[in-house]
Amino acid sequence: MGNENIHQGSRQGDSPHIHTIQNAQRVLLKLSGEALMGNQSYGIDPQTVEQIASDISQVVTSGKQICVVIGGGNIFRGINGFEMGIERVSADNMGMLATVMNAIALQSALEKHNIITRVQSAIHMHSVCESYIRRRAIRHMEKGRVVIFAAGSGNPFFTTDTAAALRASEMGCDLLLKGTKVDGIYAEDPMKNPDAQKFSTLSYRDVLNKDLKVMDAAAISLTRENHIPIVVFSICQQGNLPHILNGNGEFTFVSD
Ligand code: UDP
Repeated sequence: MGNENIHQGSRQGDSPHIHTIQNAQRVLLKLSGEALMGNQSYGIDPQTVEQIASDISQVVTSGKQICVVIGGGNIFRGINGFEMGIERVSADNMGMLATVMNAIALQSALEKHNIITRVQSAIHMHSVCESYIRRRAIRHMEKGRVVIFAAGSGNPFFTTDTAAALRASEMGCDLLLKGTKVDGIYAEDPMKNPDAQKFSTLSYRDVLNKDLKVMDAAAISLTRENHIPIVVFSICQQGNLPHILNGNGEFTFVSD
C-alpha cells in the first residue's frame, strides 16, 4: 500500500508536505478545459474564468511565481475527433488549438485584474501569442508575470497533463497544482460513490499501481523523476487556490 493515507476529514496538520506547499516559490497550475465550463456542457463560462483569474491574481499578489498549463477538453479532444473520422494527428492539432482559445480567455480575465500575462504556445502563431521559449518564460515569471502555456507539448498523441509535467520540470517548479472538480484523489469516483475513500497523501508509485486516473502515467512518471510534488484540489470553490498555497484546505499530496 506504500505511504497511502486515508483521509479522515480532519485538518492535515503541521506535516512536512504543508511546509513544502507553503514554501513553494514557483508553482504550475494545471487547469483542464472542463474547469472553465462551469455548469455548462461545452465551451467557456466567463464567470468561472473570472473566478479562476481572481484566485490566480491573489497568488501573484502574495509574491509567488505562477504559470498555467491549460487543457482544451471543453472545446475539442483529439480522440473524439478521431472517432468522428478525422485523422488522429489532425484531430490532436485541433485539440491543441482549442487550448490556445482557453489560454486567451484566461489571459483576458487576468488582465482585468491588472495581472500582466503572457500566453506562450508550443505551436507558433506569432500574431496571436508568443512561442514557447523556456528562458523567456522564466524571465516573465521572475518579473511577476503569469505565463500561460498553450498548445500542450506541441506534439500529437500527448495530453496537457503530460505537458504540465514537462513545463513544470522545465520551469523548475516547486509544485504542480492540479485543479479538478473534486477536492483530491479518491479510491473511486466520488460523484458515483459518495462513500469513496479519499487519500490525503500518496506516492507516485501508488498512483501508478492503483491506476488512479488523476493524471496519465507519463505525467506521473515525469513528475516523479524530477521530484515535483503534485497537489490535487478543487478549483471550483472561489479562493481555494490561494487558501491551499497557504497550507490550508482539502487536497491530496502526491510525492516520493
Ligand atoms: N493535445 C495534443 N498534444 C498535447 C496536448 C494536447 O495533441 O501535448 C491535444 C489532444 O488531442 C487533447 C487535446 O489537445 O485531447 C486537449 O487536451 P486535453 O485532452 O489534455 O485537455 P483537458 O482534458 O485537460 O481539458
